[in-house]
Amino acid sequence: MTEAELLPQNDWPVFEPGWVWLCGAGPGDPGLLTLHALNALRQADVIVYDALVGQGILKWAPHAHHIYAGKRGGKPSAKQRDISLHLVELARKGKKVLRLKGGDPFVFGRGGEEAQTLIQHGVPVRIIPGISAGIGGLAYAGIPVTHRDVNQSVTFVTGHDQSGATPSSLDWKSIAQGSQVIVIYMGMKHIEQITEQLILAGRPKDDPVAIVTSATTADQKVLETILETAAKDVLEAGMQPPSIVCVGRAVEMRKVLDWQAMMQGEMPRNLDPLGRGKPAEAS
Ligand code: SAH
Repeated sequence: MTEAELLPQNDWPVFEPGWVWLCGAGPGDPGLLTLHALNALRQADVIVYDALVGQGILKWAPHAHHIYAGKRGGKPSAKQRDISLHLVELARKGKKVLRLKGGDPFVFGRGGEEAQTLIQHGVPVRIIPGISAGIGGLAYAGIPVTHRDVNQSVTFVTGHDQSGATPSSLDWKSIAQGSQVIVIYMGMKHIEQITEQLILAGRPKDDPVAIVTSATTADQKVLETILETAAKDVLEAGMQPPSIVCVGRAVEMRKVLDWQAMMQGEMPRNLDPLGRGKPAEAS
């Protein structure tokens, strides 16, 4: 059997030399890769990958040349340009270049910038979306990012900007008041300021908060807390990035939906954590 035949029968795209495929690798668990990503791994000559791409995933492309392009935590963007130009150079050498990024390449991943630079340099690009940590990572913690009884909208925000500071352009007041559920990427470093801003903007001090670190990996940790004490609790629990911070009552659903705890034999803590009082499906 050839490598390609290991994929289910489909008209899989052929990776042509000189192309860059910009691909999301999901939040960590290799099982959360898409089949397009797997098809890409099977054909790539070179894989340029980020810090948050699970090492297990790279093992699925043993013949490709692996180049680490990681950068963590609000470093200057000059390096970003170097990465993009390196991709251009590899493509021009006639390589099949797989640019592999954690989660989804277009969610706080600078995928748009990279794709734009490639296209500006005449390099053809394919985009392969991935499961973003703010959705899939929370699902692994038993938190539905939308839940009919809780929220009709969700806001995804980044906890720091390019300089590493809390994004000054964010209108915390609108976010706090306009969105029942807030999902914060890169939020741990500034969790104290963020939670303070949200309380100042009118969120209840006891609004539920979950912090999920290394979501979907064997190291996944989940801390349940409330806005007022989140910063202190994160510190005390020694939580380490990468983390997703989720604010809002959707967090309560973890009491019934923590499926990983159930796999360990634990019983749900509360079958009706939002106090609906009737079967979930009855509307
Ligand atoms: N493109 C990515 C996000 C890149 S920004 C995506 O769609 O998921 C990097 C941030 O994503 C991290 O600082 C963290 O906030 C979050 N993140 C990525 N993988 C994560 C994981 N496995 N667990 C928790 N947070 C994660």
